Amino acid sequence: MADRIPLMAGNWKMNLNHVEATGVVQKLAWTLSDKRYDKAKAEAAVIVPFTDLRTVQTLVEGDKLPIAYGAQDVSVHASGAYTGEVSADMLAKLKCAYVVVGHSERREYHGESDEIVNDKAKVVLAAGMTPIICVGEKLEIRKEGRQVPFVLDQVQKVLADLTPEQVAKLVIAYEPVWAIGTGEVATPEDAQEVCGAIRRYIAEELQGADAAAGCRIQYGGSVKSSNIVDIMAQADVDGALVGGASLDPEEFAKIVLFY
Ligand code: PGA
Repeated sequence: MADRIPLMAGNWKMNLNHVEATGVVQKLAWTLSDKRYDKAKAEAAVIVPFTDLRTVQTLVEGDKLPIAYGAQDVSVHASGAYTGEVSADMLAKLKCAYVVVGHSERREYHGESDEIVNDKAKVVLAAGMTPIICVGEKLEIRKEGRQVPFVLDQVQKVLADLTPEQVAKLVIAYEPVWAIGTGEVATPEDAQEVCGAIRRYIAEELQGADAAAGCRIQYGGSVKSSNIVDIMAQADVDGALVGGASLDPEEFAKIVLFY
């Protein structure tokens, strides 16, 4: 697995206000420091609601916590009359390391296309942050056995116009939509099939071998401490995007300390 450091990113979705966030981040940091995080193979990040970012920043900076943080979405616009939107520069100013773009819930409920996701990835990179770009098939596609070509088509579109250097630094999260929040986990072999296909495709058809070797590919969908070890045993899986299980700091810490 080259020298990619796995990334365990906890996507809180629309959960935990800024007061609750304080407790969860402190408990997570405490649990990590109490165990073997110094030697952990993975990096921990929390992907929090916009309203929690400033609080999380203050905690992380004040106590020098070994936890990265980021946002769940970003505007494609730089500034201006876009009521309700938050720009990449605003997130960079809060020292976000990561911004999730193209989560299936944004695609489903807010009509985000691969082209919009591509634009969002570009603004995140331009602001000096790392996008976590989500891709993944719905159940109908999986039932027809078309998950690999479907996801590769998404990958080609969301990575359009990016340089090999940009792709080498970003994170792709493969999240089969049917496995999100359902308790239905893809088997480790299912995860490897698609994550491996993504890496080969980047190497052979898109930004080339160095980009493919550098970029981190996560699996997401009903990840828990009880299944993380088998998922992480796969050659092309470089971490996980964790929803529900990341709301419990002790459970999320176990995922980070997965060995
Ligand atoms: P889940 O969510 O872990 O609750 O299935 C994953 C995600 O949507 O990122």
